[in-house]
Formats: sequence, C-alpha cells, structure tokens
Amino acid sequence: MFKKILIANRGEIALRIQRACRELGVKAVMVYSEADRDAKYVRLAEEAVCIGPAASNLSYLNMPAIISAAEVTDAEAIHPGYGFLSENADFAERVEKSGFQFIGPTPESIRLMGDKVSAKQAMIRAGVPCVPGSEGELPDDPVQIRRIAKTVGYPVIIKAAGGGGGRGMRVVHTEAALINAVAMTKAEAGAAFGNPAVYMEKFLQNPRHIEIQVLADTFKNAVYLGERDCSMQRRHQKILEEAPAPGINRKLIERIGERCVTACKKMGYRGAGTFEFLYEAGEFYFIEMNTRVQVEHPVTEMITGIDIVKTQIMVAAGEKLPFTQRQITIKGHAIECRINAEDPYKFTPSPGRITTWHAPGGPGVRVDSHIYTNYFVPPNYDSMIGKLIVHGDTREQALARMRTALLETAVEGINTNIPLHRELMVDAKFMAGGTNIHYLEHWLEQHKR
Ligand code: ADP
Repeated sequence: MFKKILIANRGEIALRIQRACRELGVKAVMVYSEADRDAKYVRLAEEAVCIGPAASNLSYLNMPAIISAAEVTDAEAIHPGYGFLSENADFAERVEKSGFQFIGPTPESIRLMGDKVSAKQAMIRAGVPCVPGSEGELPDDPVQIRRIAKTVGYPVIIKAAGGGGGRGMRVVHTEAALINAVAMTKAEAGAAFGNPAVYMEKFLQNPRHIEIQVLADTFKNAVYLGERDCSMQRRHQKILEEAPAPGINRKLIERIGERCVTACKKMGYRGAGTFEFLYEAGEFYFIEMNTRVQVEHPVTEMITGIDIVKTQIMVAAGEKLPFTQRQITIKGHAIECRINAEDPYKFTPSPGRITTWHAPGGPGVRVDSHIYTNYFVPPNYDSMIGKLIVHGDTREQALARMRTALLETAVEGINTNIPLHRELMVDAKFMAGGTNIHYLEHWLEQHKR
C-alpha cells in the first residue's frame, strides 16, 4: 500500500478521500487554493499545500502546481476526485511521467472514453447497447447529414464528441432546423471543448437515467456494483440519486452489468468507472462512461457495503479486487440528496458565511460534507456543499429516513435547496418511483413561485 497520497481536489470529495486514507493508514496531503484555506479537511490534514489563488485554472486545474506539491511532500500517488482534472488524460499522463501513480484508469482509457464518438464505438464492439445514431462523427456534407437524420428518425440530438457537464447538445425536431443546429453545435463545441466534432443520436422522449458502477483491477478482474437511478435532473445536472432503480427487471440489470464488465476487460480498464445509460420502454442505451469516482457513489456503497474510494486506492496500489461478482449482494435501498448553496426554486448561487449548521443523524443516515458553523462558502466553485445519504431496508424506509434527515438539517446564513428536497420526498409521483429525466423540469414549471 502507498505511504502517502496527494488529494488533488476540494470540498466534500477531498474530505471523503481523506477519510478513506485514514482508514487505510495512508497519509494524505491536501492541496488548497487561497479561497479554501479554512476548509475542514485542510485543518484536519497532517500536511497541506497551497497551490494558488481562488480561480480554478490557477489552482485546482494547475497541473505543474499539483505535481510540484506531490514532489515536495514525497507523495506516491495522486487522487483526482471528480471534476477538475479527474478526466483529463494529459494530466494522468503527466502524473505518471513524473513518477507518481494516478489513482484512476490509464491515460489511454480516459482518452478513449473522453471522446464520446470513440467511446460509443468501443461499446458497440463490446456488445453494450447504444442509442441509435450516426456511426461516428457527422460528415460536413449537408446532404449526408440529412440522410443520416432521416434514417435515425426525428427528433434527433446533436452532441459534441468532447462534451461534458450537460453542455454541447442540441435537440432537432425537423429537417428544416437540422443543418443550422449542426453548425451551431459544432461552433460551440470547438470553442468550449477545443474539438468541433459532433455526432447524432435519436432523441429519446421520456427516458430515465440509469447508470452502472464498475470496479476493475490490473489483473483483469472486473465487477459491477448494481445500478443507480439519477433521473431527477435540472438542466442535465443530477440533484438526487437512488439505488437500486425502482421497478427495473433484475435480470435485465444483470445482463447490462455483465456487458459493462466485458467492456472493462476488453479495454483493460482499471479503477472505478460508471457506464451511463438512458432507459426507455424496457431497453438500455449507453450514452457515456465516466472514468472517475462520481458524486453519487455513496448510494452504491450503502447498498453493497463496498467502499468505492478505498477500493480505488487499493487497485491503484496494485492489489487485487478483494471480492468477486458472486460475493456482491445488494441490500436495501439508498437515496442521496445533493445539498447546494443556491436558491431552492430560482437556482441562483448563494455563497457566503454559514451561521448555523446542524447535521442530521440516526440509523442509516450518512452526511458527506466539509461544511461547519462559520464556514464561508466561496463563490468560486460548484455550489454543492454536501450530500445527505440514507439507507433503509426498503425504499419506503429510505424515503422516511430522508424526510426525517431533511427535517433535522439546519443551514442558516445562506440559501440551500433543502426546501426543494423536502417537497420532492413527499411528491406522490416520486414516491411511486420511476420518474423520468424531464420530471423535475415539469414539476418546477407547475410549482412556479
Ligand atoms: P454529459 O457528458 O454532458 O453529461 P451525456 O451524454 O451524459 O452528457 O448526456 C447528459 C444528459 O443529456 C442525459 O442524462 C440526458 O438527460 C440527456 N441526453 C443525452 N443524450 C440523449 C438522447 N439521445 N436522448 C435524450 N436525452 C439525452
């Protein structure tokens, strides 16, 4: 096992990884920007290095600063968390070239999956079902583009090969709007992702977002840890997640999970990863793979009892996966609410000083958050300030525990989306289970205030 790891991230995930290191008896080096000087995990750290000013591009995205911090502290490995440099193949490569272990897949895997066109082609080769669409990148010829759209069938969605974070997508309903939409998406993709390549998919009307968590080691062992339902989204951003996904045939999940495992073995995948699918009318359609730990990983940990972050570190250190597929069992139901510092209905960010913070507790309740009373939420980063996760024997029990946990949680001084979560937990359709990716947007329309 490593003696020392550098954690190249901030916020709740930095604390989460620090906790995993303590459990493993590994020393953790924290890095922080000037805006995060007072973060809880920095105060708790044995070693911490300031890597630059508040702006992410000068700190958490600053590769030389992070690698130098690893050098001066004699760390052996770097955990990138999620966001920031976690899916940057060049970073992974520079980390390894500098003699450190990157806690994640190889740069080749990141690159393959980072380009959604090559990712989709790899999935088709591995027998993973994909959304019908263009075979690869769209050609320039308008006649050919129209022909492809006709074959796929309207509505279609034009997506950037290098896209991410819900950006670089455009839905097209008619042939008249097609060519212009492709041109606009290409221009945006070129500017935002440095890659103008776009591809086309059938636009599924009412899908759910279901994803499969995988773990793989460097001995060709790979497993899947069941699925998560992340359909509750606003502007393609998840706000709450649960596992298992309500009402989906277990045999079908097993079949898809096995395909994902096959895909991992085929590409020599290592570490944690997520295969994201849209699910509609009893069918799964692959959309993309995330080659990192995800925000919503705790719901899977709660139902499997497996520590995903610890396992990431163990396989990076060259250990074998400590369990086989047969040993993985799903127990009960888990729900996660992302707590964001924002107006619950208008979604304007609400950074500032937290004057009161009371965390919930009780059986089956987990809080992953770096905040504390008197903590100042900096305006420079993502608005998520923590996650509330509950586990119950049944979905009903998990829902009841989440309602109690949300009732007990007190955050003052800033706005949070807790009131929205409280309403969703008593919403009849959500309680019934199986709402689709448009549900929240429609709900917000109807509950305008
Ligand atoms: P990103 O990397 O930006 O998250 P994804 O490919 O994962 O992009 O898509 C994000 C979201 O966009 C999905 O969760 C879904 O809501 C929507 N989406 C993507 N592709 C399709 C599609 N073919 N049909 C309908 N919705 C889609």
